[in-house]
Amino acid sequence: MNIYDSDRMKDVLAPLGYGAVDEADDVDMVIVNTCHIREKAAEKLFSELGRYRQMKEARRENGQSTIIAVAGCVAQATGAEIINRAPFVDIVLGPQTYHRLPEMIARATRAGERNSPECSRENPGAGIMDIEFPEEPKFDHLPNITAKGFSAFQSVQEGCDKFCTFCVVPYTRGSEFSRSVRDVLAEAENLAAHGVREITLLGQNVNAYHGAPVTGDQEVGLGRLIRQVAEIDGIERIRYTTSHPVDMDEELISAHGDVAQLMPFLHLPVQSGSDRILSAMNRNHSTDDFRRLHDRLMTAQPKLKLSSDFIVGFPSESDADFEATMDLAREIGFIQAYSFKYSPRPGTPGATMSNCVPDEIMSERLSRLQDLLTSNQAGFNQSCLGESFTVLLDRKGRKEGQLAGRSPFMQPVHLQASAEYFGRIVQVRITDAFANSLTGSLDGEPASHDSQVSEQRISA
Ligand code: SAH
Ligand code: SF4
Repeated sequence: MNIYDSDRMKDVLAPLGYGAVDEADDVDMVIVNTCHIREKAAEKLFSELGRYRQMKEARRENGQSTIIAVAGCVAQATGAEIINRAPFVDIVLGPQTYHRLPEMIARATRAGERNSPECSRENPGAGIMDIEFPEEPKFDHLPNITAKGFSAFQSVQEGCDKFCTFCVVPYTRGSEFSRSVRDVLAEAENLAAHGVREITLLGQNVNAYHGAPVTGDQEVGLGRLIRQVAEIDGIERIRYTTSHPVDMDEELISAHGDVAQLMPFLHLPVQSGSDRILSAMNRNHSTDDFRRLHDRLMTAQPKLKLSSDFIVGFPSESDADFEATMDLAREIGFIQAYSFKYSPRPGTPGATMSNCVPDEIMSERLSRLQDLLTSNQAGFNQSCLGESFTVLLDRKGRKEGQLAGRSPFMQPVHLQASAEYFGRIVQVRITDAFANSLTGSLDGEPASHDSQVSEQRISA
Protein backbone atom coordinates (compact mmCIF):
# COMPACT_ATOMS: atom_id res chain seq x y z
CA MET A 1 0.00 0.00 0.00
CA ASN A 2 2.91 2.37 0.67
CA ILE A 3 4.28 1.74 -2.81
CA TYR A 4 0.84 2.54 -4.17
CA ASP A 5 0.58 5.69 -2.03
CA SER A 6 4.05 6.86 -3.10
CA ASP A 7 3.10 6.38 -6.75
CA ARG A 8 -0.09 8.36 -6.24
CA MET A 9 1.87 11.19 -4.62
CA LYS A 10 4.06 11.24 -7.73
CA ASP A 11 0.91 11.52 -9.88
CA VAL A 12 -0.37 14.41 -7.72
CA LEU A 13 2.97 16.23 -7.95
CA ALA A 14 3.74 15.71 -11.65
CA PRO A 15 1.65 18.72 -12.79
CA LEU A 16 3.71 20.91 -10.42
CA GLY A 17 6.88 19.87 -12.23
CA TYR A 18 8.15 17.40 -9.64
CA GLY A 19 9.48 14.03 -10.75
CA ALA A 20 10.94 11.13 -8.79
CA VAL A 21 14.71 10.64 -8.61
CA ASP A 22 16.71 7.58 -7.59
CA GLU A 23 18.82 9.22 -4.89
CA ALA A 24 17.64 11.93 -2.51
CA ASP A 25 20.99 13.72 -2.20
CA ASP A 26 20.46 17.13 -3.79
CA VAL A 27 16.75 17.59 -4.37
CA ASP A 28 14.05 20.25 -4.13
CA MET A 29 11.76 18.09 -2.05
CA VAL A 30 12.00 14.89 -0.02
CA ILE A 31 8.91 12.96 1.00
CA VAL A 32 9.54 10.22 3.53
CA ASN A 33 6.59 7.84 3.28
CA THR A 34 6.51 5.97 6.55
CA CYS A 35 5.15 2.74 8.01
CA HIS A 36 4.03 2.44 11.64
CA ILE A 37 3.26 -1.26 11.73
CA ARG A 38 6.32 -2.21 13.79
CA GLU A 39 8.60 -0.11 15.95
CA LYS A 40 11.66 -0.74 13.79
CA ALA A 41 10.03 0.81 10.74
CA ALA A 42 8.92 3.87 12.72
CA GLU A 43 12.40 4.35 14.25
CA LYS A 44 14.05 4.61 10.87
CA LEU A 45 12.32 7.93 10.28
CA PHE A 46 14.45 10.06 12.59
CA SER A 47 17.78 8.73 11.33
CA GLU A 48 16.65 9.39 7.75
CA LEU A 49 15.51 12.86 8.70
CA GLY A 50 18.95 13.70 10.17
CA ARG A 51 20.45 13.05 6.74
CA TYR A 52 17.92 15.26 4.99
CA ARG A 53 18.46 18.05 7.50
CA GLN A 54 22.13 18.18 6.50
CA MET A 55 21.17 18.30 2.86
CA LYS A 56 18.68 21.09 3.53
CA GLU A 57 21.35 23.12 5.35
CA ALA A 58 23.94 22.60 2.61
CA ARG A 59 21.47 23.63 -0.07
CA ARG A 60 20.40 26.68 1.93
CA GLU A 61 24.04 27.82 2.01
CA ASN A 62 23.94 27.66 -1.79
CA GLY A 63 20.77 29.74 -1.82
CA GLN A 64 18.51 26.76 -2.65
CA SER A 65 15.40 25.81 -0.72
CA THR A 66 14.34 22.26 0.12
CA ILE A 67 10.98 21.03 1.32
CA ILE A 68 11.01 18.07 3.69
CA ALA A 69 7.72 16.23 4.10
CA VAL A 70 6.85 13.22 6.25
CA ALA A 71 3.92 11.17 4.97
CA GLY A 72 2.25 7.88 5.89
CA CYS A 73 1.21 6.20 9.09
CA VAL A 74 4.01 7.41 11.40
CA ALA A 75 3.00 10.93 10.41
CA GLN A 76 -0.64 10.09 11.08
CA ALA A 77 0.12 8.62 14.50
CA THR A 78 2.77 11.02 15.80
CA GLY A 79 2.37 14.22 13.75
CA ALA A 80 3.10 16.88 16.38
CA GLU A 81 5.97 14.87 17.86
CA ILE A 82 7.69 14.84 14.46
CA ILE A 83 7.57 18.62 14.23
CA ASN A 84 8.81 18.98 17.83
CA ARG A 85 11.68 16.54 17.39
CA ALA A 86 12.57 17.66 13.87
CA PRO A 87 11.54 21.32 13.53
CA PHE A 88 13.16 21.55 10.09
CA VAL A 89 10.35 19.34 8.69
CA ASP A 90 8.04 21.45 6.50
CA ILE A 91 5.04 19.20 6.02
CA VAL A 92 3.50 16.31 7.94
CA LEU A 93 0.66 14.53 6.17
CA GLY A 94 -1.31 11.35 6.71
CA PRO A 95 -2.29 8.62 4.24
CA GLN A 96 -5.72 10.17 3.68
CA THR A 97 -4.63 13.72 2.75
CA TYR A 98 -1.92 13.44 0.13
CA HIS A 99 -4.26 14.72 -2.58
CA ARG A 100 -3.84 18.08 -0.80
CA LEU A 101 -0.04 18.10 -1.26
CA PRO A 102 -0.03 20.91 -3.87
CA GLU A 103 -1.76 23.24 -1.42
CA MET A 104 0.59 22.23 1.42
CA ILE A 105 3.63 22.79 -0.81
CA ALA A 106 2.38 26.27 -1.75
CA ARG A 107 2.00 27.12 1.95
CA ALA A 108 5.40 25.67 2.81
CA THR A 109 7.03 27.64 -0.01
CA ARG A 110 5.45 30.89 1.21
CA ALA A 111 6.56 30.18 4.78
CA GLY A 112 10.07 29.32 3.56
CA GLU A 113 10.32 32.63 1.71
CA ARG A 114 9.22 34.51 4.82
CA ASN A 115 11.69 32.69 7.05
CA SER A 116 14.75 32.33 4.96
CA PRO A 117 17.52 34.81 5.92
CA GLU A 118 16.98 35.29 9.64
CA CYS A 119 16.25 31.65 10.42
CA SER A 120 19.06 30.05 8.51
CA ARG A 121 20.98 28.88 11.59
CA GLU A 122 18.05 27.06 13.14
CA ASN A 123 16.86 25.90 9.75
CA PRO A 124 13.21 25.55 10.75
CA GLY A 125 10.56 24.10 8.51
CA ALA A 126 7.10 25.45 7.80
CA GLY A 127 5.52 22.98 10.23
CA ILE A 128 2.36 22.38 8.21
CA MET A 129 0.37 19.41 9.45
CA ASP A 130 -2.58 17.72 7.74
CA ILE A 131 -3.47 14.40 9.34
CA GLU A 132 -7.23 14.65 9.09
CA PHE A 133 -9.55 11.89 7.98
CA PRO A 134 -11.46 14.01 5.43
CA GLU A 135 -15.17 13.37 4.91
CA GLU A 136 -14.66 13.12 1.18
CA PRO A 137 -12.27 10.29 0.37
CA LYS A 138 -9.03 11.20 -1.35
CA PHE A 139 -9.97 9.04 -4.34
CA ASP A 140 -12.53 11.66 -5.38
CA HIS A 141 -9.68 14.16 -5.78
CA LEU A 142 -6.77 12.17 -7.11
CA PRO A 143 -5.78 12.35 -10.79
CA ASN A 144 -5.95 9.19 -12.93
CA ILE A 145 -3.27 6.66 -12.09
CA THR A 146 -0.35 6.96 -14.48
CA ALA A 147 0.21 3.45 -15.80
CA LYS A 148 3.94 2.92 -15.81
CA GLY A 149 4.17 -0.72 -16.65
CA PHE A 150 2.21 -3.85 -17.31
CA SER A 151 1.34 -4.62 -13.73
CA ALA A 152 -0.46 -2.11 -11.50
CA PHE A 153 -1.70 -1.78 -7.95
CA GLN A 154 -5.22 -0.54 -7.53
CA SER A 155 -6.43 0.45 -4.08
CA VAL A 156 -10.07 -0.58 -3.64
CA GLN A 157 -10.40 -0.65 0.13
CA GLU A 158 -8.71 1.18 2.96
CA GLY A 159 -8.74 1.17 6.73
CA CYS A 160 -9.94 -1.52 9.06
CA ASP A 161 -12.59 -2.08 11.74
CA LYS A 162 -11.24 -5.37 13.06
CA PHE A 163 -9.03 -4.04 15.87
CA CYS A 164 -6.69 -6.98 16.24
CA THR A 165 -5.02 -6.27 19.56
CA PHE A 166 -1.49 -5.97 18.11
CA CYS A 167 -2.30 -3.71 15.17
CA VAL A 168 -2.13 0.06 14.61
CA VAL A 169 -3.91 0.04 11.24
CA PRO A 170 -7.42 0.92 12.51
CA TYR A 171 -5.90 3.97 14.23
CA THR A 172 -3.62 5.16 11.43
CA ARG A 173 -5.67 4.30 8.34
CA GLY A 174 -9.06 4.89 9.93
CA SER A 175 -12.23 2.89 9.62
CA GLU A 176 -13.06 0.63 6.74
CA PHE A 177 -13.85 2.28 3.43
CA SER A 178 -14.59 0.72 0.03
CA ARG A 179 -14.47 2.56 -3.29
CA SER A 180 -17.52 2.21 -5.49
CA VAL A 181 -17.59 -0.48 -8.16
CA ARG A 182 -18.04 2.21 -10.82
CA ASP A 183 -14.86 3.95 -9.69
CA VAL A 184 -12.83 0.77 -9.54
CA LEU A 185 -13.99 -0.44 -12.96
CA ALA A 186 -13.38 2.95 -14.62
CA GLU A 187 -9.86 3.03 -13.21
CA ALA A 188 -9.18 -0.59 -14.21
CA GLU A 189 -10.43 0.14 -17.76
CA ASN A 190 -8.13 3.13 -17.97
CA LEU A 191 -5.18 1.03 -16.78
CA ALA A 192 -6.01 -1.68 -19.33
CA ALA A 193 -6.21 0.94 -22.10
CA HIS A 194 -2.69 2.01 -21.15
CA GLY A 195 -1.27 -1.48 -21.48
CA VAL A 196 -1.69 -2.88 -17.96
CA ARG A 197 -2.27 -6.66 -18.06
CA GLU A 198 -2.11 -7.47 -14.36
CA ILE A 199 -3.98 -5.73 -11.57
CA THR A 200 -3.45 -6.28 -7.86
CA LEU A 201 -6.45 -5.08 -5.90
CA LEU A 202 -5.22 -3.59 -2.64
CA GLY A 203 -6.65 -2.99 0.78
CA GLN A 204 -5.51 -3.29 4.38
CA ASN A 205 -8.31 -5.80 4.63
CA VAL A 206 -9.17 -6.14 0.97
CA ASN A 207 -11.62 -9.03 1.22
CA ALA A 208 -13.83 -6.95 3.53
CA TYR A 209 -14.52 -4.91 0.35
CA HIS A 210 -18.18 -3.92 0.10
CA GLY A 211 -18.50 -1.31 -2.63
CA ALA A 212 -21.57 0.54 -3.90
CA PRO A 213 -22.86 -1.30 -7.01
CA VAL A 214 -23.14 0.26 -10.48
CA THR A 215 -26.89 -0.42 -10.42
CA GLY A 216 -29.25 -1.48 -7.65
CA ASP A 217 -28.54 -1.07 -3.99
CA GLN A 218 -26.93 -4.31 -2.92
CA GLU A 219 -23.30 -3.81 -1.99
CA VAL A 220 -20.78 -5.78 -3.98
CA GLY A 221 -18.19 -8.01 -2.31
CA LEU A 222 -14.67 -8.71 -3.53
CA GLY A 223 -15.59 -11.97 -5.31
CA ARG A 224 -18.14 -10.17 -7.50
CA LEU A 225 -15.78 -7.23 -8.06
CA ILE A 226 -13.08 -9.62 -9.28
CA ARG A 227 -15.53 -11.17 -11.73
CA GLN A 228 -16.32 -7.72 -13.11
CA VAL A 229 -12.66 -6.67 -13.38
CA ALA A 230 -12.00 -9.96 -15.21
CA GLU A 231 -14.42 -8.88 -17.93
CA ILE A 232 -12.28 -5.89 -18.87
CA ASP A 233 -10.48 -6.41 -22.16
CA GLY A 234 -6.73 -6.67 -21.67
CA ILE A 235 -6.76 -7.59 -17.96
CA GLU A 236 -5.27 -11.05 -17.99
CA ARG A 237 -4.12 -11.48 -14.42
CA ILE A 238 -5.78 -10.46 -11.16
CA ARG A 239 -4.43 -10.67 -7.63
CA TYR A 240 -5.61 -9.19 -4.34
CA THR A 241 -3.98 -8.48 -1.01
CA THR A 242 -4.20 -8.48 2.04
CA SER A 243 -7.04 -10.69 3.20
CA HIS A 244 -8.37 -11.64 6.60
CA PRO A 245 -9.46 -15.29 7.01
CA VAL A 246 -12.92 -14.40 8.38
CA ASP A 247 -13.80 -12.36 5.29
CA MET A 248 -13.24 -15.18 2.77
CA ASP A 249 -16.88 -15.59 1.70
CA GLU A 250 -18.30 -18.18 -0.67
CA GLU A 251 -18.37 -15.84 -3.67
CA LEU A 252 -14.68 -15.04 -3.24
CA ILE A 253 -13.70 -18.65 -2.69
CA SER A 254 -15.61 -19.79 -5.75
CA ALA A 255 -14.01 -17.00 -7.84
CA HIS A 256 -10.74 -18.92 -7.38
CA GLY A 257 -12.35 -21.81 -9.22
CA ASP A 258 -14.18 -19.96 -11.97
CA VAL A 259 -12.23 -16.81 -12.82
CA ALA A 260 -9.40 -17.82 -15.13
CA GLN A 261 -7.57 -14.52 -14.65
CA LEU A 262 -7.45 -14.86 -10.86
CA MET A 263 -3.96 -16.13 -10.03
CA PRO A 264 -3.81 -19.32 -7.93
CA PHE A 265 -1.93 -17.63 -5.13
CA LEU A 266 -3.39 -16.06 -2.00
CA HIS A 267 -1.75 -14.14 0.82
CA LEU A 268 -3.75 -15.16 3.88
CA PRO A 269 -2.16 -14.13 7.19
CA VAL A 270 -2.79 -16.54 10.05
CA GLN A 271 -0.45 -14.90 12.63
CA SER A 272 -0.43 -17.84 15.05
CA GLY A 273 -1.28 -21.54 15.21
CA SER A 274 -2.54 -21.36 18.81
CA ASP A 275 -6.25 -20.85 19.48
CA ARG A 276 -5.49 -19.15 22.78
CA ILE A 277 -3.19 -16.62 21.11
CA LEU A 278 -5.56 -16.07 18.17
CA SER A 279 -8.25 -15.23 20.67
CA ALA A 280 -5.96 -12.85 22.62
CA MET A 281 -5.15 -11.23 19.27
CA ASN A 282 -8.89 -10.78 18.61
CA ARG A 283 -8.60 -12.54 15.26
CA ASN A 284 -12.10 -14.01 15.58
CA HIS A 285 -11.28 -17.42 14.16
CA SER A 286 -9.71 -20.63 15.40
CA THR A 287 -7.00 -22.73 13.82
CA ASP A 288 -9.64 -25.27 12.80
CA ASP A 289 -11.60 -22.51 11.05
CA PHE A 290 -8.40 -21.74 9.16
CA ARG A 291 -7.91 -25.42 8.24
CA ARG A 292 -11.51 -25.68 7.02
CA LEU A 293 -11.07 -22.50 4.99
CA HIS A 294 -7.90 -23.94 3.46
CA ASP A 295 -9.85 -27.09 2.49
CA ARG A 296 -12.66 -25.07 0.89
CA LEU A 297 -10.15 -23.01 -1.08
CA MET A 298 -8.35 -26.14 -2.25
CA THR A 299 -11.63 -27.69 -3.33
CA ALA A 300 -12.49 -24.58 -5.33
CA GLN A 301 -9.01 -24.36 -6.86
CA PRO A 302 -6.70 -27.36 -6.35
CA LYS A 303 -3.72 -25.44 -7.79
CA LEU A 304 -4.03 -22.70 -5.19
CA LYS A 305 -1.02 -21.98 -2.95
CA LEU A 306 -1.00 -19.82 0.14
CA SER A 307 1.44 -17.38 1.66
CA SER A 308 1.02 -15.96 5.14
CA ASP A 309 2.15 -13.65 7.94
CA PHE A 310 3.17 -14.79 11.41
CA ILE A 311 3.83 -12.96 14.65
CA VAL A 312 5.95 -14.73 17.26
CA GLY A 313 6.12 -13.73 20.91
CA PHE A 314 2.71 -12.14 21.33
CA PRO A 315 2.23 -11.52 25.11
CA SER A 316 1.80 -14.81 27.02
CA GLU A 317 2.79 -17.02 24.06
CA SER A 318 4.07 -20.25 25.65
CA ASP A 319 6.35 -22.91 24.18
CA ALA A 320 3.25 -24.99 23.47
CA ASP A 321 1.55 -22.08 21.68
CA PHE A 322 4.62 -21.60 19.54
CA GLU A 323 4.86 -25.32 18.74
CA ALA A 324 1.24 -25.13 17.57
CA THR A 325 2.30 -22.36 15.16
CA MET A 326 5.13 -24.55 13.87
CA ASP A 327 2.67 -27.43 13.39
CA LEU A 328 0.23 -25.29 11.43
CA ALA A 329 3.00 -23.86 9.25
CA ARG A 330 4.18 -27.43 8.49
CA GLU A 331 0.68 -28.70 7.85
CA ILE A 332 -0.48 -25.96 5.46
CA GLY A 333 2.93 -25.71 3.77
CA PHE A 334 2.77 -22.01 2.93
CA ILE A 335 4.97 -21.45 -0.11
CA GLN A 336 6.09 -18.06 1.13
CA ALA A 337 5.65 -16.13 4.37
CA TYR A 338 6.58 -13.06 6.35
CA SER A 339 7.29 -13.54 10.02
CA PHE A 340 7.94 -10.95 12.68
CA LYS A 341 8.71 -10.61 16.36
CA TYR A 342 5.79 -9.04 18.16
CA SER A 343 6.31 -5.30 18.45
CA PRO A 344 4.10 -3.50 20.99
CA ARG A 345 2.48 -0.51 19.32
CA PRO A 346 1.43 2.49 21.40
CA GLY A 347 -2.32 2.86 21.71
CA THR A 348 -3.14 -0.79 20.91
CA PRO A 349 -4.55 -3.16 23.57
CA GLY A 350 -1.54 -5.46 23.12
CA ALA A 351 0.80 -2.73 24.34
CA THR A 352 -0.69 -2.87 27.83
CA MET A 353 -0.80 -6.66 28.14
CA SER A 354 1.37 -8.34 30.74
CA ASN A 355 3.36 -11.56 30.32
CA CYS A 356 5.67 -10.18 27.67
CA VAL A 357 7.88 -12.75 26.01
CA PRO A 358 11.59 -12.01 26.55
CA ASP A 359 13.43 -10.88 23.44
CA GLU A 360 15.89 -13.83 23.42
CA ILE A 361 12.98 -16.26 23.38
CA MET A 362 11.28 -14.33 20.60
CA SER A 363 14.52 -14.38 18.57
CA GLU A 364 14.95 -18.08 19.04
CA ARG A 365 11.34 -18.82 18.06
CA LEU A 366 11.53 -16.51 15.07
CA SER A 367 14.65 -18.18 13.80
CA ARG A 368 13.12 -21.67 14.11
CA LEU A 369 9.95 -20.55 12.35
CA GLN A 370 11.89 -18.81 9.61
CA ASP A 371 13.99 -21.93 9.01
CA LEU A 372 10.80 -23.91 8.52
CA LEU A 373 9.18 -21.27 6.28
CA THR A 374 12.35 -20.93 4.19
CA SER A 375 12.55 -24.67 3.72
CA ASN A 376 8.84 -24.79 2.71
CA GLN A 377 9.55 -22.08 0.15
CA ALA A 378 12.70 -23.81 -1.17
CA GLY A 379 10.81 -27.12 -1.37
CA PHE A 380 8.04 -25.53 -3.42
CA ASN A 381 10.54 -23.81 -5.71
CA GLN A 382 12.29 -27.16 -6.28
CA SER A 383 8.96 -28.81 -7.06
CA CYS A 384 8.53 -26.31 -9.91
CA LEU A 385 11.50 -27.75 -11.87
CA GLY A 386 10.27 -28.93 -15.25
CA GLU A 387 6.87 -27.23 -14.85
CA SER A 388 5.60 -24.75 -17.42
CA PHE A 389 4.16 -21.48 -16.09
CA THR A 390 2.81 -18.29 -17.54
CA VAL A 391 5.00 -15.28 -16.74
CA LEU A 392 4.28 -11.62 -17.41
CA LEU A 393 7.64 -10.27 -18.59
CA ASP A 394 7.55 -6.79 -17.11
CA ARG A 395 11.16 -6.07 -16.13
CA LYS A 396 14.78 -6.64 -17.10
CA GLY A 397 16.36 -9.84 -15.77
CA ARG A 398 19.50 -10.16 -13.68
CA LYS A 399 21.77 -10.90 -16.62
CA GLU A 400 22.37 -9.33 -20.00
CA GLY A 401 19.69 -10.38 -22.51
CA GLN A 402 17.31 -11.55 -19.78
CA LEU A 403 13.78 -10.46 -19.05
CA ALA A 404 11.96 -11.29 -15.84
CA GLY A 405 8.52 -11.41 -14.34
CA ARG A 406 6.40 -13.26 -11.83
CA SER A 407 5.02 -16.78 -12.02
CA PRO A 408 1.35 -17.24 -11.11
CA PHE A 409 2.66 -17.99 -7.57
CA MET A 410 4.56 -14.68 -7.36
CA GLN A 411 8.00 -16.27 -7.75
CA PRO A 412 10.43 -14.07 -9.71
CA VAL A 413 11.31 -15.90 -12.95
CA HIS A 414 14.33 -14.94 -15.08
CA LEU A 415 14.85 -16.08 -18.66
CA GLN A 416 16.72 -15.29 -21.83
CA ALA A 417 14.29 -13.40 -24.09
CA SER A 418 14.58 -10.62 -26.66
CA ALA A 419 13.01 -7.19 -26.17
CA GLU A 420 10.04 -8.10 -28.37
CA TYR A 421 8.73 -10.21 -25.49
CA PHE A 422 8.71 -7.30 -23.07
CA GLY A 423 5.18 -6.81 -21.71
CA ARG A 424 3.95 -10.17 -22.94
CA ILE A 425 2.63 -13.07 -20.96
CA VAL A 426 4.71 -16.04 -22.07
CA GLN A 427 4.81 -19.71 -21.28
CA VAL A 428 8.06 -20.58 -19.46
CA ARG A 429 9.56 -23.98 -18.72
CA ILE A 430 11.38 -23.90 -15.35
CA THR A 431 14.98 -25.11 -15.58
CA ASP A 432 16.53 -23.96 -12.29
CA ALA A 433 15.17 -23.30 -8.81
CA PHE A 434 16.75 -21.09 -6.15
CA ALA A 435 15.73 -20.06 -2.64
CA ASN A 436 13.83 -16.97 -3.83
CA SER A 437 13.56 -17.22 -7.59
CA LEU A 438 13.41 -19.45 -10.65
CA THR A 439 14.99 -19.44 -14.07
CA GLY A 440 13.52 -20.92 -17.18
CA SER A 441 13.28 -20.78 -20.94
CA LEU A 442 10.54 -19.85 -23.37
CA ASP A 443 8.18 -22.74 -23.89
CA GLY A 444 6.44 -22.36 -27.25
CA GLU A 445 4.48 -19.31 -28.31
CA PRO A 446 3.51 -16.47 -25.95
CA ALA A 447 0.59 -17.52 -23.78
CA SER A 448 -1.18 -14.35 -24.81
CA HIS A 449 -0.18 -11.11 -26.30
CA ASP A 450 -1.40 -7.87 -27.64
CA SER A 451 1.41 -7.07 -30.03
CA GLN A 452 0.19 -3.56 -30.72
CA VAL A 453 0.44 -2.54 -27.08
CA SER A 454 3.80 -4.28 -26.65
CA GLU A 455 5.27 -2.57 -29.67
CA GLN A 456 4.10 0.85 -28.49
CA ARG A 457 5.71 0.18 -25.12
CA ILE A 458 9.04 -0.89 -26.55
CA SER A 459 9.31 2.12 -28.82
CA ALA A 460 8.33 4.40 -25.91
N1 SAH B 1 -4.82 -7.01 7.47
C1 SAH B 1 -3.86 -8.02 7.54
C2 SAH B 1 -2.54 -7.58 8.11
C3 SAH B 1 -2.02 -6.22 7.84
S1 SAH B 1 -0.62 -5.75 8.79
C4 SAH B 1 -4.39 -9.15 8.43
O1 SAH B 1 -5.37 -8.97 9.10
O2 SAH B 1 -3.81 -10.18 8.53
C5 SAH B 1 0.65 -6.71 8.02
C6 SAH B 1 1.35 -7.70 8.93
O3 SAH B 1 2.17 -7.03 9.86
C7 SAH B 1 0.41 -8.51 9.82
O4 SAH B 1 -0.13 -9.60 9.13
C8 SAH B 1 1.26 -8.92 10.98
O5 SAH B 1 1.84 -10.18 10.78
C9 SAH B 1 2.33 -7.81 11.01
N2 SAH B 1 2.11 -6.97 12.21
C10 SAH B 1 1.13 -6.09 12.41
N3 SAH B 1 1.25 -5.53 13.62
C11 SAH B 1 2.34 -6.08 14.20
C12 SAH B 1 2.97 -5.92 15.46
N4 SAH B 1 2.48 -5.09 16.38
N5 SAH B 1 4.08 -6.65 15.71
C13 SAH B 1 4.58 -7.50 14.79
N6 SAH B 1 4.02 -7.69 13.59
C14 SAH B 1 2.91 -7.00 13.29
FE1 SF4 C 1 -4.62 -4.89 11.50
FE2 SF4 C 1 -5.37 -6.71 9.66
FE3 SF4 C 1 -6.28 -6.88 12.19
FE4 SF4 C 1 -7.13 -4.91 10.59
S1 SF4 C 1 -7.49 -7.11 10.29
S2 SF4 C 1 -6.54 -4.72 12.73
S3 SF4 C 1 -5.28 -4.48 9.40
S4 SF4 C 1 -4.14 -7.08 11.46
